Parts: sequence; C-alpha cells; structure tokens
Amino acid sequence: MRAIRRFTVRTVLPEPLAALDELSHNLRWSWHAPTRELFAGVDRELWADVKGDPVAFLAALGSERLQALAADEGFVGRTRAAADELHRYLHDPRWYQEQRSATGAELPRGIAYFSPEFGITSVLPQYSGGLGILAGDHLKSASDLGVPIVGVGLLYGAGYFRQSLTRDGWQLENYPLLDPDGLPLAVLREEDGTPARVSLGLPGGRRLHAHVWVAAVGRVPLLLLDSNIPANDEASRAVTDRLYGGGGEHRLQQELLLGVGGVRALRIWSRLTGAPEPEVYHTNEGHAGFLGVERIRELVSVGLSVDEALEAVRAATVFTTHTPVPAGIDRFSKDLVSGYFGGDNQMDGVPVDRVLALGSEDYEGGDPTVFNMAVMGLRLGGRANGVSLLHGQVSREMFEGLWPGFDAREVPITSVTNGVHSPTWVAPQLVRLQQERLGLDQLTAPEASAGWLDPGKVSDADLWSIRSELRSELVDEVRLRVRKSWRERGASPAELGWIDDVFSPDVLTIGFARRVPTYKRLTLMLRDPARLRALLLHPQRPVQLVVAGKSHPADEQGKRLIQQLVRFADDPAVRHRIVFLPNYDIGMAQSLYPGCDVWLNNPLRPLEASGTSGMKSALNGGLNLSIEDGWWAEWYDGENGWGIPTADGVDDPDRRDDLEAAALYDLVETTVAPLYYDRGPEGVPGRWLEMVRHTLATLGPKVQATRMVGEYVHGLYAPAAEAGRTLAAGSYGSARDLATWKARVREGWHHVRVDHVESGGIADAAQVGDRLAVKAYVSLGSLTPDDVDVQVVHGHVNESDVIEDFQADPLAHADSYEAGRHAFAGEVALDSSGPFGYTVRIVPRHPGQTNVADLGLVVNA
Ligand SMILES: *Cc1c(COP(=O)(O)O)cnc(C)c1O
Repeated sequence: MRAIRRFTVRTVLPEPLAALDELSHNLRWSWHAPTRELFAGVDRELWADVKGDPVAFLAALGSERLQALAADEGFVGRTRAAADELHRYLHDPRWYQEQRSATGAELPRGIAYFSPEFGITSVLPQYSGGLGILAGDHLKSASDLGVPIVGVGLLYGAGYFRQSLTRDGWQLENYPLLDPDGLPLAVLREEDGTPARVSLGLPGGRRLHAHVWVAAVGRVPLLLLDSNIPANDEASRAVTDRLYGGGGEHRLQQELLLGVGGVRALRIWSRLTGAPEPEVYHTNEGHAGFLGVERIRELVSVGLSVDEALEAVRAATVFTTHTPVPAGIDRFSKDLVSGYFGGDNQMDGVPVDRVLALGSEDYEGGDPTVFNMAVMGLRLGGRANGVSLLHGQVSREMFEGLWPGFDAREVPITSVTNGVHSPTWVAPQLVRLQQERLGLDQLTAPEASAGWLDPGKVSDADLWSIRSELRSELVDEVRLRVRKSWRERGASPAELGWIDDVFSPDVLTIGFARRVPTYKRLTLMLRDPARLRALLLHPQRPVQLVVAGKSHPADEQGKRLIQQLVRFADDPAVRHRIVFLPNYDIGMAQSLYPGCDVWLNNPLRPLEASGTSGMKSALNGGLNLSIEDGWWAEWYDGENGWGIPTADGVDDPDRRDDLEAAALYDLVETTVAPLYYDRGPEGVPGRWLEMVRHTLATLGPKVQATRMVGEYVHGLYAPAAEAGRTLAAGSYGSARDLATWKARVREGWHHVRVDHVESGGIADAAQVGDRLAVKAYVSLGSLTPDDVDVQVVHGHVNESDVIEDFQADPLAHADSYEAGRHAFAGEVALDSSGPFGYTVRIVPRHPGQTNVADLGLVVNA
C-alpha cells in the first residue's frame, strides 16, 4: 500500500539526561509550562522550529549537543528536579483519593473511557473537533484529580486532515502520514518483548489485528489501537488509516475495533501491568458502543445468559450523547451489521438478532432497516447524559420514543455540562499574573479562587495591559498565518506587502472558529455584506474578525461556506479587518482564544449540544457573544457577555437567519463596540473590564473540566460502579435474579391494568394544606404487589389539562382480592394553590432498576 516504508531513529540519551525521555513522552508537558520551559530554554529557535514538540526536539538536538548538555551540571540538576516533580504528580494522592461516594462506598478502582478521537496536543493530531478536545480535556483533568481512568481509542495513520486553500478559496485536504515511532507513544509489549496484539473476526473468515500504543497523559494511560501492522492483509491495515475517513463499512470496522478490540486491549493492559479491571465503562458518543457487546460475550462465555449478561453490563456502563443533529449519529444498515455479527463470524453464545435488537429503531418514526449507534448506547448504558442542561432536555425529547408511555421529563437521560482544562487553555501571562497576585495558600486551595481579580490586587490598567498584550500577540500570529496561507495559495512575496497592515493591536477583535457543519452557520455574519463591511470599516469603532474552521471532506456544502467567507475576506477593501486562517487545530486555538476580545458563536438553536470554545475564551478574559444555546443558555447572566436573540418559532430558515443576523449586527454596533471604545483615563475601557472581571470571577470556576469530571465521578461513575458490583456479587447471582424478574414482569405485563380509582377527603373548595385521599383498584394478573409501584401522579395542570412539574408518589398496598386484584391507597398533600390534577399509573418496581423507565413498561389509568 505504501511505497515508502518509513521509520524513525530514536534518540539515545546520555545517562545523566535519561529523565528527559519520560519528560518528553509523558504528555503532561503539554499543560505544564515549566516542563516546556526546560526544553525551550536549551535552544529557543529549534524549539520553535519543531513547534514545541519535545520528542522531535530531542531528536533534532543531535548527540553532540546532548553530550554537552549532559556535562552541564545546572541543566542536569534542573532535569532531575523536573523529573522528581513529575513523579510526585504521578504518584502522590490527589483529590480522588480523598473522596467517598454518596453512599460511603469505595469509588471505582478503574474507569475505562472510550472515544473515537482524543485531542490532547497538536503533536498527536488524533481529533477533528469538539468531541475529541473534550475527551482530551477529560483525561487531563482526570489526571489532575487522580481519577483512575484509562482512555481507549484508535491510532489513525494520518489523523485528521491538514487544511489549506486554493487561490479561489476552496478547501484542500492533506493527510500527512504519522510515524508512531516519532510520536510520544510506546507500543504495548508482551513479557517476551513482542508487541501485544488484539484480534477479532471479520466476515469470510478474515481476522483483524491491531497493536496497542500507549500515550501517557499525566497519570492516565491512553490505549490507541493501530491496525497498520504486517499481520493484517492490505484491507485490514487500512482500517485505522484516517479519522472519520470512509463511509459505511470502513466506519463500522473502525467502530468494531474501537469497541470490541478496545475491551480486549484493556484485558491485555490489566494482565501486563496489573492495573485493576475497569469497574465502569464510559462511552463518549455512540461510536464505541460495541464494547457492550464484547462484555456481554465475555460474561456469556462464563455461563451467563445474554439477558443476565446484559443486566450486568448495563449497570456499569455510562453513555454520553453529544449531538441532537441526526448527521452526527452513526447509523448502519442492519444487513451490514449482520455480516459482522452473524454467520461464521457470530460471537459464541450471542445470537446476531440479539445484537441487532440493541440498535434497532423499533419506535414510532424509526427506520426498521437501520442499526443506530446512539440507540444502542442508550440500551447498553444504564446511565446516560447530555452535555448541557438544555441538551439534556433536547435529548430526552429526541429519544422519548424509546420509552413510550413515559413523559419526556422521565426519559433517563441526565446532563453534565461540559468543561475545559484550564492549564491547557489559559495564556501563560494570565497564569503568571494570577500566581503573582494570589497568596500561596489561595493558589494551592482545591477550589478555584478568583481572589486575584480583586481590584485591590490587579488594577484595571494591569488587566488591560495584559489583554492588550494578548491581542497584540494574536495580531502577529494572524499576519504570519495569512502570509503562509497566501504563499500556499500561490502568491509571490512581492504581492503580499499589504499583509503587514492586516489587523491592528488596538481594534476590537472578534473570533469565530469551529468545525463547519451547516448548523453552526459560519456565514451568518455575511447575511448582509454591506452591514458587515460597515462594522469592519467603522471610522471610530472598527471591528476585526478572525475566522477559522475545517469542513468535513465529504461536506461540499461546508466547503462552499468556507469559500464564500474566504472570497469576502479576500476583498482588498476589507482584507485588513477580516481573515480566514486555514487549518484550525489545538495550536491555533491556543493563540486564538486569549487574543480575542469577543468570542462569537451563532449556531441554530438548539443544535449546539454544549460548545466549549467560548469557555476557553472566557477563561482568558474574553466576552461571549452567542446564541443562547448549549452551555451559554445555562450560564449567560446578562453581565458576562451578550446573548444574541433567537427567532424561535420562525419556520422559514432564510427569514430566521435574516432576523438573527440583524440582531447580531445590532448588538455589535450599538452595544459591544461602543462599550469597548468607551475609554477612561489612560485609554482603559473601565466598563468593559468590569464585564471581564465578572466573567473571570463567575464563569471561571464553572467552566473547568475538573468541575465536570467531579460531576461524572459522583453523579455517574460511583453509582454505576455500585450497581455493577451489586449485580456481580455472588457470581452474578443478582444479575441472574434481575434478569429473571424482568422476564417475568414483561411476560405478565399485558394483564396489568388500573380498574378503578376513588378519591375523597376534599370538600368542594380545596385549600392549601388539605389532603387528597386516593384509592386505586388494580389487576396485576400473575404479578405480585411487590413487583409494582402503583403511583399517584399529580401536580399543577395547565389549560390543556397536562400535568406540569408532576410528582409521582407510591400508594401503599391495602387489600388483595381474587384473581390478582388489589387495592392501593394513600394521600396527596395539596401544598400549593392553583389548578391541580392527578392520575394513577402502574410501573415495575425492583431495587436493581436504574430508573423508573428502566423496563419501558407503564400502565396509565
Ligand atoms: C475547543 C475546540 C473545539 C470545539 O469548539 P466548539 O465551540 O465546541 O465548536 C474545536 N476545535 C478546537 C481546536 C478546539 O480547541
């Protein structure tokens, strides 16, 4: 397949510098400035040439320089000190080691975190956008907190593509091949030194093999499966060729390797390192969902039935959904999936129809020929969540069909709002200022402290001077990148003199960078080109706009949007005030967020599940200007930025875009720019800085990924581990009992009904404080009163007789009669005034259920 076989000669370090190997390979350097400084201080020019990649830096230094450094006592001492500090970071107890679960139980000993992409550093380009960056931030924060996570993903031979532009502004994609030996990775080896190998069956008797590369993300190991190995045939070698490269079958093979192969890799990892087996399996989006099928197979192989295994697996699985956009959800044809889990390739004891049922869209509006990975995620995940409050609600409505008869509010999908890893995203100048202005005790306190923002500690002039320095650095970076882009677009240096005047360090700088799917509306700002031009060229209060983003290679529509934007920005009349920078990646992001005064986001509400770039901007003192969607719908408070009014309810998409674009122009023109240019003494914008202080102080602590990981630990991982332990106890005796009970309840459910409801205790005019007595006569057929909850569902009713903010309280078993008939009774306290309504329903009851909708069974009166 490849004509040229490449390999990298590894650097041999002189003994006194041996620790540099670990310091360069543990990716903690990517969020630890002192470690980076240790390398950079050796040769700043070379450090810049290798784009801050320590492994490449050591290779480029050459053995002579290394020998000289080994004789430099000062450097050797600093290296040892850095290594000691790293070891303390890696081994000392941290936050997690001091936590107990809410029930007092031990927290999980291990958690596996599966994701199709991980964005950790630009040195390891294994991500395409927000999903991967979030996964990277999750691992880094887990490391900082001491959470025992193991990441599981794929190593893509070319990662995601490198973006450049044609002269005409069309996106070009380039896939530079990565050589794992030149990356901060180590191949996982068996005790005899041979690379450990994961294998799985493919249709037609073929097998797919993979090696496992390990990246050290601080304390967190990240296992990356790589199919590009000699044991594979040419087709199988290409399975991990690119991230989100091919369509249908290629994607399915990648997801099989990630899910099934990933679990097998974890088993090898535990065997070789003694690491505890994970007690919780977390899948970041649905792509890794087959991990549940593999774990079912494992349990079936030790004697459980598929149903019993399914209970044990579900209890310990967490599924995070990330998108309400249908194109973001993987769907395969059932026939294709059958080929991989049926026929000769069927897993022992796991019939193919059981696998197909997991991803089946057998609900109203579903497609019976399709296998849906998100649906499988929800069926295999005993706990599920969206990534902001709003997205949780949208997801509950979106997947309501999987739980017919239940109210959307009871759909078992909760939410954990995303966060970002501040050590990765905050500009060094701000970190330094914070360190200078905070006392040591405040700096080392576990809670984020905003004390440094006290005007007594940092004056407006100081704060403004840092913001201006960051903007100024961005201006330099923008010019470099624009020049590079134009050179790639075929311009000669002589044509490019104008680039020296691109952007100004004094002009209000607005950033917009993200992937380019349609719903993010890259070109909303171009809706009225004349108005945009007027904002950019305003004589007193101009605005400059930096834009970046990649379109998925198969998305022609997205590429057209980029081209429109580039053509607008190419116009000599405005090109000094608006730029499109190709190849948005972590490296660019790190310079973009700090330098922008305002971070713009204008998705089509409610399609942005969370969004995180605005959080990174906020941590650097940027103000968000955004549609109230995702995280911003939750945390916009009127003083930390601006909410762009949405034209909710306007169905015509063109009209909606017109309205929202007009609202955006109005805000910039009448509010944002005037505030920015309203200067006090020494040219400092006092009211602007008030908003900056407020943002840093109030959003700063909330948007942290440590806050997010803490919520996962206590809200999802700990309960999942406890449920998993309960079901595994006594050789899975409880899993067997639960499966048997569920089968019995399903079987008997069609005889369950509410026969008759009586109420009393209330005179005609009910008053707050009265109690409503309710008695329900029900038929349970073969089920017993212990198998069910008979509930009175009550609350305020609106004009259309729908109970809002309902509460469901169980009635007590009161009497039994012949033929499976029973009475249940209880009281409801009327504790607030207004229209009130109630009804009675029957739901299954068992302590092993994760929620009331677990079986999806309900009988409403
Ligand atoms: C943060 C980040 C993203 C995600 O940004 P959204 O606002 O969630 O779209 C994408 N790419 C890079 C490089 C990032 O740093």
